[in-house]
Amino acid sequence: MTVIALDVGGTQIKAGVLAEDGSLIHGERRLTRAERGPDAVLDTVLACAVDLAGRYAPTAAGIAVPGIVDEASGTSVFAANLGWRQVPVRDWLEEALELPVAFGHDVRAGGLAEARLGAGRGCGSFLFVPVGTGIASAIVLDGEVLTGRGSAGELGHLTVRPGGERCPCGGRGCLETVASASAIARRYGAATGAVGVSAEDVRRRAESGDAVAAAVWREAVDALADGLSAAVTLLDPERIVVGGGLARAGAPYFDPLRAALAERSTFRTAPPIVPAELGHQAGCLGAALLAQDLDAARKPATRARRSHPIRRQTGYGVDG
Ligand SMILES: [Zn+2]
Repeated sequence: MTVIALDVGGTQIKAGVLAEDGSLIHGERRLTRAERGPDAVLDTVLACAVDLAGRYAPTAAGIAVPGIVDEASGTSVFAANLGWRQVPVRDWLEEALELPVAFGHDVRAGGLAEARLGAGRGCGSFLFVPVGTGIASAIVLDGEVLTGRGSAGELGHLTVRPGGERCPCGGRGCLETVASASAIARRYGAATGAVGVSAEDVRRRAESGDAVAAAVWREAVDALADGLSAAVTLLDPERIVVGGGLARAGAPYFDPLRAALAERSTFRTAPPIVPAELGHQAGCLGAALLAQDLDAARKPATRARRSHPIRRQTGYGVDG
């Protein structure tokens, strides 16, 4: 069964087509251009899906969206960076495609993909933590991705610095205000007056002896370790999979993070922290898995015949 999948982000819409044998036969990206308004974004999503469906004759489609979602009703409840409120995405996509559509949250779909195809393989319980402009997480326990009431895993809004900086969510001292890539850039800019410095620049400056950069980087790592420590205390995962832009820094990020989490693990050993494996493909592959699951559930006989589960692909679009 061929499925099409879309991962709708604030900057890009990633789309993919997976053949019956699990191979990725097509991948593409379109700009979201959210400034055009919520209806225009939705039109682009639908047009992209219809175009792919016309070319590849899929049996199901999957779509992953950011923000607060109601997975049961297939509704995007609120997606700040798309301007969507109460958009019945699944119904509209089903109507446009005349196909069954699976609907999910982008980070949880990414967690599902890492669980089956990536850094969570062979692991019943782990935490998938993409650290980028914001910080989110997918909680995988006993092989299931937790949904809660629709927003389980909002690690970025865990208070790690009580009374700290105001967060757009309305809280103060949220993890995201210290440890996200945008927080690192903003905090360094505020401390030095430097303009246009990225988190990656801050890391480079820290390595070349800039004490303010080193302090900002260190504070970000410490805050993330505080957040992860809270999550570990509650969930006791076997592994922590860190993805997103900051994880691309590699050892300068992971080494101090592992040490900081170990320091905080007072009564048991800290779980290993490993880099995510699927990068920007995670959400789209997760949406494809949701579509395959939906298709298999609708046609139980096909499940036994499915001898080639989706496997990890290379060459999917551009990285970045
Ligand atoms: Zn917050």
